[in-house]
Amino acid sequence: WSKETIAVVTGGNRGIGFEICRQLAAHGVTVILTSRDTDVGIEATKVLQEGGFDVYSYQLDVLDPLSIKQFADWLQENYGGLDILVNNAGVNFNLGTNNSVEFAQKVIATNYYGTKNMIEAMIPLMKPSTAGGRIVNVSSRQGRLNGKKNKIENIALREQLSDVDSLSEELIDRILSTFLQQVEDGTWKSGGWPQTSTDYSLSKLAVNAYTRLMARKLSDLPDGKKIYINCYCPGWVKTALTGYAGNISVEEGADTGVWLALLPDQAITGKFFAERREIKF
Ligand code: NDP
Repeated sequence: WSKETIAVVTGGNRGIGFEICRQLAAHGVTVILTSRDTDVGIEATKVLQEGGFDVYSYQLDVLDPLSIKQFADWLQENYGGLDILVNNAGVNFNLGTNNSVEFAQKVIATNYYGTKNMIEAMIPLMKPSTAGGRIVNVSSRQGRLNGKKNKIENIALREQLSDVDSLSEELIDRILSTFLQQVEDGTWKSGGWPQTSTDYSLSKLAVNAYTRLMARKLSDLPDGKKIYINCYCPGWVKTALTGYAGNISVEEGADTGVWLALLPDQAITGKFFAERREIKF
């Protein structure tokens, strides 16, 4: 990895995203730290630049198509594309079982559709390389299909989502819109959805399903243009998102994401990781 390696990180201004920027830059990679607030991104970038790192900032709101388009054009013009994309931006309102329509919509829009928007916009800009382009999605164990706690109780749905061959964007869209409709109708509790942090769990479940789906879709790219996509759970991390109640530091939370982004073994794709080990979806 060298200065010519370009990594883009969403939500890079704080928390795990900021630390991913720092660790990637410490490996000698050029990092584009993106943030939805321009000034906050510039401030965060300054801190890393003062540490001697090649980090540059750009405004990017993963929910705003115009912002994504402007970013993509700027990236293409100034860097000729990218090698690594880390989809880190996310929200969680920690409302447990009290899903409000507005929060549920926002969580699913940001965590799932924001990630998807970025993958769609960045894939055409991935630079050809022998190492292969890398996409890392910051997900969560809360989005596991078969976790002991907090899983989807609807067995038919679980089976559809478990089988990588039956996964499709339409299936994921249908599941999310069914859930959101039930939140609106006040009937979601009997829908067989995970019972805690439901909207958040579902948003990450969708990210995981999309990771596997995209790995399948990208698998026939020719040598030299390969793109590998994986997701990981950072653990329970002391950040604003957990009210700083996590049990690990951002350094630990960023570690597996950076490891995946820079993994020398090219063949790994469509997998879910935690603490540098593969875990089940
Ligand atoms: P933080 O709240 O500290 O950071 C979240 C980042 O996402 C911020 O930079 C925020 O920007 C950004 N963001 C939110 N919405 C958008 C948007 N529409 N466009 C661009 N950026 C946006 O949380 P964490 O660092 O903890 O979370 C990072 C990721 O890790 C998330 O995906 C989260 O779900 C995941 N995760 C975290 C865990 C934890 O224990 N902390 C556990 C499992 C997963 P702004 O500063 O403007 O709000």
